[in-house]
Amino acid sequence: MADFRRPHESVDYRRLTGRLPPPPEYLHTAYLADPETIAATQLERVRGRAHAAFEVPFFRRRWEAAGFHPRELGSLDDLAAVPTYTVDDIRASIDAHPPYGDYQGVSVEQARDQPMRIYMSGGTTGRSRPTLYTAWDREAGAILTARALYMQGIRPGDVVLNAWAYSTHNGAHAMDEALYRWLNCVVISTGTGNVTPTRKQVELAVEYGASAILTTGDYLLHLADTAVEMGLDPRTDLRLTALPNIGDKERLHAVFGAPVYDSYGFHEVQWVAIECPAGDGLHIFEDAFIVEVLDVETGQPLPDGQQGTVCVTEIYKTGSPQFRYNIMDLSSRYPPGQCACGSWLRKMAPFAGRGDNMVKLRGVNIWPEALGEVVTELDGVTDDYFVVASRDGHRDEMTISVVSDRPPDQFDDLAATVEARLHQATGVRIGVEVVGPGRLDHLTGFGTAAKLIRFRDDR
Ligand SMILES: [Zn+2]
Repeated sequence: MADFRRPHESVDYRRLTGRLPPPPEYLHTAYLADPETIAATQLERVRGRAHAAFEVPFFRRRWEAAGFHPRELGSLDDLAAVPTYTVDDIRASIDAHPPYGDYQGVSVEQARDQPMRIYMSGGTTGRSRPTLYTAWDREAGAILTARALYMQGIRPGDVVLNAWAYSTHNGAHAMDEALYRWLNCVVISTGTGNVTPTRKQVELAVEYGASAILTTGDYLLHLADTAVEMGLDPRTDLRLTALPNIGDKERLHAVFGAPVYDSYGFHEVQWVAIECPAGDGLHIFEDAFIVEVLDVETGQPLPDGQQGTVCVTEIYKTGSPQFRYNIMDLSSRYPPGQCACGSWLRKMAPFAGRGDNMVKLRGVNIWPEALGEVVTELDGVTDDYFVVASRDGHRDEMTISVVSDRPPDQFDDLAATVEARLHQATGVRIGVEVVGPGRLDHLTGFGTAAKLIRFRDDR
């Protein structure tokens, strides 16, 4: 007998699928659980995770300083007493304890008995932020991803192109594991356009009859444009039946004809919520997460319906915990109630921008994404934009660059129109620059970044 446990020996699959049913079973089990069952499951799991997190120096230090002990977690309302943290606290932990920080629940020394992987976020500026995933955490994350992909239309046996970057990030790998291990899909791992040229991606999708291409919505629309250049019809030649692509829902639907559902997730915890066919809000996977929404400035929990920053507690892992992690993504929670689809799972609104991107411009709180929403609805402006905050003396300024496919001699008039519309919407003056197609790609990371970058703070 080997003196180490292999991944398939370290995971009790019966227990795993009992706790987190994979699709399609999920849709007639946990998805339809009644509110009492959901709350009881959450309380039992979050208490277990609190005791595990208390053994991790990062959490114990913060909790003891706040006078909190896991045994005080008698109800879900008691969560409000647990200190939250942000990515800045993670960065400080890594700086003090490189390279892993002191927030991991496992260490690589345990890998012989507890197989694990490291995925990283950040890294373009400053240190990468690693998360250690046990074999259980990988499989659990893959089940959550498989649920989302299934609800977005992917079916067992489908051929799927995975055009995400297979890199140090979790994204492409989590998708790959979900497709292969939990949906029996046949994966063609093309990677991004840098790895497999765009024309080749189109050819592969057509030749192998791919039913989905996993990538950003923007890159998928770029693939459609390329297909047209190649003399193909994006609808009849590509025949995509699922669009699990984050981006312009209306345009994606118009180009490919399949339904588009919003989703929400981030790499440390993987997929959190997915829109249902009722088309109003994203159901949270409440057997795996507790999602709260906090006031941007005070950090206190907000009532349902009010927009603030998303604070996530995972209740499914065995390795590195995320316990009241304030992600600083903006959203709101729907009031409790049964959805038209039959589910009682709590809903949240789609991602509405970054809470830490807020700029106070002459007393007005402004989010770059909100400006983007206003300008991209105007005639002559495409969906692409980029916002820069700068300081002129003691005065903060904001400039938005928008893309137009009109002739350049119309750019000045268009800039004046955009500026007037922004002034009307915000009450303050915002600089506008109009540029031609492709001119912002080096700033937004188009074609290479998982989530497009829309803002830079030069102050
Ligand atoms: Zn629903």
